Amino acid sequence: MRRLLLKSLVQGPLTEPAPPADENALAELAARVKRASWRQLGRTLSIREVDAGSCNGCELEIHALNNVLYDLERFGLRFVASPRHADVLLVTGPVTANMREALERTYQATPEPKWVVAVGHCARDGGVFAGSYACVGGVSAVLPVDLHIPGCPPSPSALLGGLLALLESVSKPPVPATR
Ligand code: SF4
Repeated sequence: MRRLLLKSLVQGPLTEPAPPADENALAELAARVKRASWRQLGRTLSIREVDAGSCNGCELEIHALNNVLYDLERFGLRFVASPRHADVLLVTGPVTANMREALERTYQATPEPKWVVAVGHCARDGGVFAGSYACVGGVSAVLPVDLHIPGCPPSPSALLGGLLALLESVSKPPVPATR
């Protein structure tokens, strides 16, 4: 025990350093999401995350958006606790039979306008869990999906890029001025 304590005192931490984040690129991406959100909604974007049966790998990357490295809230993007306050449902995992009704009820509780974003390979078609007796398939088997962000899991930057693509794809073109 004493040897172990001494070793821990002289040895540095064994955790890997965090991957480098391109701060400027991230800030630019987040600022574009914020601008697109204000243009589309007149306010910042509120996101409700729904785990429909994932392995939690996708959740780790989604949670990273709120850690000190990415700190998404500084750009005004918020994760909310209730679907009643959400604009976007960020759904991960294959939809399990047990989560199907909860996912449908979450969707019904979300006010219009609302968008569904399927996150990760599993959310597209069940991924590695496809064909399991416990799964009903990808998110589109239960809800209308507006965007799919691929990856196993997708990185935080890919998630941010996906949200931007969503907002830009639903943005209406400016109405030409009439005289
Ligand atoms: S896409 Fe990969 S990380 Fe995400 S839930 Fe499926 S297996 Fe897990």
